[in-house]
Amino acid sequence: MKQVPFNPEELNLFFKQLWKKSLNPFWICKPIAGDFEMVLANPAALKLDPLQKPGTKFSELIATGKYPDGILDGYHKCLADKLPLEFEQTPVVNGKEYLFRTFLVPIVNDNDEVTHIWGTSHNLTDFIDPQRELLMINQYLDAKVQERTEQLNQAMKRLEKLTITDELTQLANRRYFDDALQKEIARAKRNNQPLALIYFDIDYFKTFNDTYGHTAGDKCLKRVAQVLSHHAQRAADVVARYGGEEFVMLLPNLNCQQALQVAERVRTEVAGLRIPNQETEAKVVTISAGVAVIKESSFNADTLLKLADNALYQSKSNGRNCSLIAS
Ligand code: GH3
Ligand code: MG
Ligand code: MG
Repeated sequence: MKQVPFNPEELNLFFKQLWKKSLNPFWICKPIAGDFEMVLANPAALKLDPLQKPGTKFSELIATGKYPDGILDGYHKCLADKLPLEFEQTPVVNGKEYLFRTFLVPIVNDNDEVTHIWGTSHNLTDFIDPQRELLMINQYLDAKVQERTEQLNQAMKRLEKLTITDELTQLANRRYFDDALQKEIARAKRNNQPLALIYFDIDYFKTFNDTYGHTAGDKCLKRVAQVLSHHAQRAADVVARYGGEEFVMLLPNLNCQQALQVAERVRTEVAGLRIPNQETEAKVVTISAGVAVIKESSFNADTLLKLADNALYQSKSNGRNCSLIAS
């Protein structure tokens, strides 16, 4: 056997001092009929809880309510497995919550029976507050990051909307429309469906501006834009300000006659607003429209726009305040 650096007396002294002076609580208990009984507890353990004196049953300790439920589980497991074990416990002593890491070591006799359990605890309570503080800081930072991400997403959405929206009328802008036109033409061809495009232009708008001023002109544009959006209600319909006092409407799956009806409804409603334009024949603001429908697979965006524009030109030549289908 290897030489131990202490003789038995020295070893005895060593353990006695350790038992007495250790700042960690030590205790020895023994299993009795489904319970455990304290056999010995060192001063550090007694200082923490004077109830841990020899003879105290663990069920009595638990009855004080200071110890969390399930504290006996570790002892039972140690007893059953005959293996050392460690676990955390959070007793409340004098209203303060403690955090202990408890180690249990089974003392096994020659008959392989656990006669005692030796226990010790490390007091980790000092770590609780910084840990909670860290947790709170973490939660705060998480919330902040989430808030900033949300703000960023909102800003991105606003920016995205800005790049495709006409600022004055809040309709889609030309850029959005050009993009939508390409997509809808491709879709119409794929599904072999018609696609209608209406080109609108406010009549004598220069005269309106000259008569009532630019600000009144802006207001008029907004009101006409509202009428237009009322008549482009289906999900795939697109209405956009194409430039100045010109608007376009894209109506998937509408044929010529149906599109002409939409154009006529818009035209009638704009005239019905009865916005004065005194220096013109109609005396009110009117709008003209040109309708074109894609019917051949060879049609592209330029052809469709040109056809609608030609039809609009004819409407203007016909005296304005009317809608015509491209011929
Ligand atoms: P037509 O019946 O042939 O369409 O004549 P028009 O006077 O409407 O057409 P023209 O192209 O001569 O004039 C368009 C006017 O629209 C000129 C321009 O000052 C005005 N306009 C364009 N954009 C805006 C705008 O954002 N606000 C205002 N107030 N006026 C605008
Ligand atoms: Mg014009
Ligand atoms: Mg005009």
